[in-house]
Amino acid sequence: MNNTEDLSAVSNVELPITEDGLLFNEVFFAVAMLAFVWLVILEKKRPLLHFPQEIGKGSYITNTTAFIFNNFILTVLRASSLFLVAQQFSSIGLLSGLSSGPIKWLLSFILFDLAIYVWHLASHHYEFLWRFHKVHHSDKSFNVTTGFRFHVFDLFLEIPYKCLFVILIGVEANLVLAIETVELLFIFFHHANLRFAFEERISHFIITPALHRTHHSAMRQEHDSNYGIVLAVWDKLFGTRKELIPQKIGLDIIEAENFLQLFFLAFVTERHIRKILAIIPKGKKRS
Ligand SMILES: [Zn+2]
Repeated sequence: MNNTEDLSAVSNVELPITEDGLLFNEVFFAVAMLAFVWLVILEKKRPLLHFPQEIGKGSYITNTTAFIFNNFILTVLRASSLFLVAQQFSSIGLLSGLSSGPIKWLLSFILFDLAIYVWHLASHHYEFLWRFHKVHHSDKSFNVTTGFRFHVFDLFLEIPYKCLFVILIGVEANLVLAIETVELLFIFFHHANLRFAFEERISHFIITPALHRTHHSAMRQEHDSNYGIVLAVWDKLFGTRKELIPQKIGLDIIEAENFLQLFFLAFVTERHIRKILAIIPKGKKRS
């Protein structure tokens, strides 16, 4: 029928679902990874913020290890099969009546971006979700690999949420996977330790590194802002936009220097830290 269908036939993918989404997914993923490499080179050439060498290097190694581990685990768990199951129930969703095409893709993208905005906001507001999401915020550096730094449970908990999206909105799971890859490209972009031309103007439409840098501030009132992934409209609409230059990046009481510490960090909450601190004698100055 069309080129993409011909190509997916050529690529010899013998899955029951070989729709446009699968090919898009591959192309977008290649584009996202190329953009990643390009941003890494740019960051090395002219970084915006100068982090101590140890912090910068540690961040690159830890975050890349997290990416490899998370992808391995999620592949072993075959997370995408959940999507395919969800797809069986997507025929009654909001957009299920629309035929596949640019309008449906665009609407799905906008709604998905909103859904991820809501998930991100919830990740900051609910202690249970924050315990995993804070791992992402624990990076004391801010660079393109910070976009890799996620706790595997943070990514895993998102899957049923995305499945619910597939069912409620009535879009193909493959399209959601393709949109996710586009979002990945933006995740790399807005974590870049760079300043872009016309950034302030662009930031009224999409989330830029300057906006997302505020989201990585060490201060809670600052990092509880700018939850958007691609579109800037959601933060404006829901009053969560902040345009500030953070004094410090990372989280103060949380330290994780390697990948294992990163993983276990999620199981130590601020409450635990306070409890442990309470056990330690405080000396005479106790009031
Ligand atoms: Zn966040």
